[in-house]
Amino acid sequence: MKPENIFSALSALRQEGRLRQVQDLRMETASLGVDREGKRYIVFNSNDYLGMTHAKEVQEAAAKAVRFGTGSGGARLTSGAAFELSNLEKEIADFKHTEDAVIFNTGYMANLGVLYALAGKGDVIFSDELNHASIVDGCRISKAETTVYRHSDMADLERLLQTVPCEGQRFIVTDGVFSMDGDICPLPALAALKKDYRACLIVDDAHASGVIGRTGRGTAEYFRMAGIDVQVGTLSKAFGAEGGYIAASREICDYLRNTSRPFIFSTAISAVTGAAALAALRLLKAAPEKYLGRLRENTAYMRNLLTETGVGIAAGDTPIIPVAVGDEKEALATAEACRKEGILLSAIRPPSVPVGTSRIRLTVTAMHTKEEMKKAAAILIRHWRSK
Ligand SMILES: *Cc1c(COP(=O)(O)O)cnc(C)c1O
Repeated sequence: MKPENIFSALSALRQEGRLRQVQDLRMETASLGVDREGKRYIVFNSNDYLGMTHAKEVQEAAAKAVRFGTGSGGARLTSGAAFELSNLEKEIADFKHTEDAVIFNTGYMANLGVLYALAGKGDVIFSDELNHASIVDGCRISKAETTVYRHSDMADLERLLQTVPCEGQRFIVTDGVFSMDGDICPLPALAALKKDYRACLIVDDAHASGVIGRTGRGTAEYFRMAGIDVQVGTLSKAFGAEGGYIAASREICDYLRNTSRPFIFSTAISAVTGAAALAALRLLKAAPEKYLGRLRENTAYMRNLLTETGVGIAAGDTPIIPVAVGDEKEALATAEACRKEGILLSAIRPPSVPVGTSRIRLTVTAMHTKEEMKKAAAILIRHWRSK
């Protein structure tokens, strides 16, 4: 892009009200943030579902690991192979009931890494139209052909599986919990199609692990079934740290360690980050009811508060609550009005969603108090009604 075109592209974004800026925020607790002016916010757009970022045991584990260095110093196949990361891979595999797991530096890179390495020339990827951007980008960098099916539409997926020619391997890839609306993929139907068409099923559980299923193990546990070949996930949401992972068979994991460029050519996350994620995972494993019980209770409480007053939200089981607004500018204005009153939530608008379906997305965590939720709901409802 020529420099003058960058300038005009920025001006166009500004004019459309779509120019985005980073707004610094320091989290004092898992649900309270403070900006540079000292203004405080109750945060309803964080993915820290279980509040692990501020859990005492997690912070202590990170502090303890800092003596092994603040950075890892290299990629995993060279010097960056901290004990904590291999320990974490074992614990993730155990948590996900798989043979093995591989850690990547982010969930974004995990999706790139798995699609890049597994889906090659002659293969076809069948991808849900609302999949996360990292899956979309993973499809782009793989050498496979990609076909997009309508959101969670199994008839459309089957039609494509029947009609799109494929001489190699078929892959079906989907979010477990979709990040925009918090809806859950239809795993039983996906697993049946995968079997019928001998496809490989990849499910991205970034918003599902530590969130759904009786003990937080994600989509497979939610539906009480097996059948997923590759489970992708992140350490940055329910596990309070950073990094991504895939959990799969030993063969797939070994293959990724040997061929996946995002794994091979990037410096590993540090022992500090690994120790934090490991501590969070162990806390959840030791007392799933404690964390998930509170998350479910808060989710139900907030969903009730909003539905009682007639705010349009889609029914669902997850802590991602989309509030329908429609018009893009109104969604933005509502979020901004809430921000002024100390409530942070997200306006979701094109290009993330189709024109005319803009919404407010509100994410509940286990750490929100009833008072915080009441306050947020009251403020949101007032501004939602005033349109
Ligand atoms: C957040 C998210 C990712 C990216 O994970 P990061 O660790 O933040 O890079 C990938 N997939 C889905 C579905 C997500 O929601």
